[in-house]
Amino acid sequence: MKTIGLIGGMSWESTAIYYRLLNEKARTERGGLSSARILLHSLDFSEIVDFQKAGRWDLAAERLAGSARGLEAAGADCVLIATNTMHLVADAVAAAIDVPLIDIVAETGHRIAEAGGRRPLLLATRYTMEHGFYADRMERMAGIRPLVPEAGDRAEVHRIIFDELCLGRVEEASRARMLAIVERGRAAGADSVILGCTEICLLLDPDALPLPGFDSTSIHADAASRFATDSGAVQLRERVAA
Ligand code: GLU
Repeated sequence: MKTIGLIGGMSWESTAIYYRLLNEKARTERGGLSSARILLHSLDFSEIVDFQKAGRWDLAAERLAGSARGLEAAGADCVLIATNTMHLVADAVAAAIDVPLIDIVAETGHRIAEAGGRRPLLLATRYTMEHGFYADRMERMAGIRPLVPEAGDRAEVHRIIFDELCLGRVEEASRARMLAIVERGRAAGADSVILGCTEICLLLDPDALPLPGFDSTSIHADAASRFATDSGAVQLRERVAA
């Protein structure tokens, strides 16, 4: 079993989900009292949000690269950034370490492509939907370019993420609004949906949507679990090298 290094706390609501999923997968894989080997570096999310709001992605990159180096020095065999948004600085983080960075965008894109999806609707933070890094990264790594909701819907998804889900609030009215956004995405030509923020699975069940749903949190955790066992290591290394 390899040790999984997790840069978390962004928000801790979703990091808690990663922790549960990684341990559940280890128990399913190895049985009995088995659990995952995890090193968690949990950041203060308020500091990261300040960097986001100020557009100081350079400072955020330094903070996350330092975290990744610390995890590697402590014995992590791989590193995960447990948020989609902060993959905006993933290249800087990957360059700071010698162990693989398991990329949430690549893993999600490959999963959609394997299922036959071509035009997924991306539900995510404003940064992830509007900056361009996510769509470019998914196209480069998995050959798929996601659609994004129209401007008013993007603002609403961003609000639900930061004002509710990252604070642990799950509101029925917001679930209905998200489903309406998915319906508008379908009308615009989407063939699938990316839960492209690691908290959205608190609100939406990816298997109960009008289109096939892909939950980035569980796909990312699954990739880490496969890496941690010998069976998944070769496949992931090929992807990281590609
Ligand atoms: N966890 C969220 C994501 O996956 C948002 C938090 C953040 O801004 O990092 O993008």
